[in-house]
Amino acid sequence: AAGSTPLLLHNLNPEQLAAVTLPAEHALILAGAGSGKTRVLTTRIAWLLQNGYVSPGGILAVTFTNKAAKEMMTRLSAMLPVNVRGMWIGTFHGLCNRFLRAHYKNAGLPQAFQILDTQDQLSAIKRLCKQYKIDDERFPPKQMAWFIGNCKEEGLRPKDVVASDPDTRKKIEIYQLYEDQCQREGVVDFGELMLRSYELLRDNAPIREHYQRRFRHILIDEFQDTNKLQYAWIKMIAGVGQGGSDGSGGSVLAVGDDDQSIYAFRGARVGNMTDFVREFAVRQQIKLEQNYRSYSNILDSANALISHNSRRLGKNLRTDQGAGEPVRVYEAPSDFAEAQWMVDEMKQLIRDDVPRSEIAVLYRSNAQSRVIETGLFNAGIPYRVYGGLRFFERAEIKHALAYLRLLENPNDDTSFLRVVNFPARGIGARSIEQLQDLARATGCSLHDAVSTLTGRPGAVIAGFVAKLDVMREQTADLNLKDIIKLMLEHSGLLEHYRNEREGEDRVENLDELVNAAESFVMQEGFGREAPGMAPLVSSPEALLSQSPASQGLSGNALETAPDEFGDTGETLSPLQAFLTHAALEAGDNMAAAGQDAIQLMTVHSSKGLEFDCVFITGMEEGLFPHENSMSDHDGLEEERRLAYVAITRARKRLYLSHSQTRMLHGQTRYNLKSRFFDELPEECLKYLTPKQQAMPSGAGMGGGMGGGFGGGGYGGSGNSWGGSGYATNSGAARAYSTGAGGTFGAYSAPQKEVVRKEEPTGLRKGQKVFHAKFGEGTVLTLEGAGDDARAQINFPRHGTKWLALSVAKLTPVP
Ligand code: ATP
Ligand code: MG
Repeated sequence: AAGSTPLLLHNLNPEQLAAVTLPAEHALILAGAGSGKTRVLTTRIAWLLQNGYVSPGGILAVTFTNKAAKEMMTRLSAMLPVNVRGMWIGTFHGLCNRFLRAHYKNAGLPQAFQILDTQDQLSAIKRLCKQYKIDDERFPPKQMAWFIGNCKEEGLRPKDVVASDPDTRKKIEIYQLYEDQCQREGVVDFGELMLRSYELLRDNAPIREHYQRRFRHILIDEFQDTNKLQYAWIKMIAGVGQGGSDGSGGSVLAVGDDDQSIYAFRGARVGNMTDFVREFAVRQQIKLEQNYRSYSNILDSANALISHNSRRLGKNLRTDQGAGEPVRVYEAPSDFAEAQWMVDEMKQLIRDDVPRSEIAVLYRSNAQSRVIETGLFNAGIPYRVYGGLRFFERAEIKHALAYLRLLENPNDDTSFLRVVNFPARGIGARSIEQLQDLARATGCSLHDAVSTLTGRPGAVIAGFVAKLDVMREQTADLNLKDIIKLMLEHSGLLEHYRNEREGEDRVENLDELVNAAESFVMQEGFGREAPGMAPLVSSPEALLSQSPASQGLSGNALETAPDEFGDTGETLSPLQAFLTHAALEAGDNMAAAGQDAIQLMTVHSSKGLEFDCVFITGMEEGLFPHENSMSDHDGLEEERRLAYVAITRARKRLYLSHSQTRMLHGQTRYNLKSRFFDELPEECLKYLTPKQQAMPSGAGMGGGMGGGFGGGGYGGSGNSWGGSGYATNSGAARAYSTGAGGTFGAYSAPQKEVVRKEEPTGLRKGQKVFHAKFGEGTVLTLEGAGDDARAQINFPRHGTKWLALSVAKLTPVP
């Protein structure tokens, strides 16, 4: 093996080399964008395997997306002739799923448990609220989902949550009902995947010790975005802290960039990095300071921008690549024109031989993609959207998946309800309610309650169940593709959509589902194991025997010796694996997969990726930074980190665009260019349209925006906007607070012809409110009126904040 080592390691700089060849102990790599963190992580795995320091079964690697996991495996198999499927590489959700599949009995789950995505979860909660006659104004299902998700992230079961007031008590009760319902139906939500596997590790010493012995090397990419539970899970599996450490756990290599922490709103804790150093007694901290991705105009822009953030761990980033092209800035009169300009620019790039897949369009909000998609579609340019409208989330696909899930698990009530009367078979809401009552009374699933339902309703629903039973028998020996085809016919779905006026697209999508299944089977190669998902391997030792690294191994090889757990080797059927795939990998738009297409995605989903040419669109106040985040200091810093992530995706060419008007949620909004433009170095920029008048500089985040915009207007910008100021009702460009306990400082209102309605805030002191990001809080102080209205609110999880009511979205909690 030694002969090929230099090949693996050549091209690494000294710091990277040191990181790749670290001794087996806990270590942290803290480094900026494009410095090779992911590359180091992948190369280290290869290096460990190649030198026989570990067997594939001893590797646990966590990536942030399924796509990244796949890429890592592809790279590894290119580097080494090992069975990459023996390694556990995947997202936290993917890995936990794999773990729970292997130990479903110990985890108290049915073998064919199904995964609820966010949408399923919401409908499960809605159904529950209806059944138990819970006031959904007082306890809106979305808030309940948020509450439950938060509890799970904190590792709290209903019995662990402290009921401080009647409302919380009620919520805990709903949480408990929801848990019972999920358990009865054999389904788990995303939070449950994580919590259930954490608890299994915590409570089952033999299993915990087994994995602690097994995973010699635990590698975590994008560590800055791990949440509390994920961090606890890592500690458990590495045998650090209360996890019953006997010193036999593996080494953890955490890799991250505090400046790219962009999931605080979902509970990510950048503090995990400092906790990690302390709790794992990290002695090896490596910094990578050379950026290999971008030219310096791009990198300098990113560095300048992020330097406006206050709480940073601090690191440098330089590049040897030279200045490169300037960063291009474009101002459009409308979002439509912005898209048009972009399409023209792309056409030119394509003529210049830039592969379409090397062109990415990034936006802050999913809603922005539609206009761009229309532009691309009309121009006949193939494109691919990540996230957003997800293939597996479309209604017709959901219906088809529900039938498939019922074939696997008749007790899945969510799926049962989705299709019991779809296509319509004359089953009324009343009958379904009756059935639900019966099921609740006997504590069984809807499927099992059918036999006790009498009269005509009973007969009709029994007919539905019988149809499923027949389908289950007919498909028992079929391959996945034929199972789906048969289901589409026999369920009546295809016929239903064929007869629908506008059903053509939907029929196409159902056909696409068959294609998706087929390529899934090909990709995963049945008999082998699905990456980051369900274990299709027969046993751990089967993995070892195929790997060259298993020869000549040290004593470590034994950690994957035959398993004392009878259920580790359970095999998933292709259908089960496909359903799991559909639930976990909903982020990809299958339809355009594989094509050379323009890449469209939100900034959030661009993390870790890179492209030759990047367009960042909608760089406007209220959009980017997003209005929900502008009203507080932490929110604004997270937006800036997002902008940093976006900018650092570009290798060669970067475009930043903004538009004066934009249709959003059915309203035309007049937006100012993003404050982030003012934080970029002029010498790196090139204006494709005349630059807007400079704004009077204000005192940092308090002042600049408001002051400049009323009087200055767009008079000097050479476009059609004139100098008269303009109406706005979005609140986007207006006030924002100075964060923790601050005051409004230099805020000044727009001066001219601003149309606004003075609305009562509807809030009072002591009132409970809900904020999408901070959760529930209590109003402490109210000040000002109309657009100037602001409130000081205490959020138990985030502390006390001043929020501008014209900007912050608050829902009163009765
Ligand atoms: P991010 O923070 O965006 O996730 P990263 O730190 O993970 O970035 P990588 O994606 O690993 O960075 O690397 C960025 C680019 O630089 C990749 O194209 C990678 O192949 C390249 N690269 C990394 N190290 C080197 C090197 N020593 N020589 C040449 N290219 C390198
Ligand atoms: Mg990376």
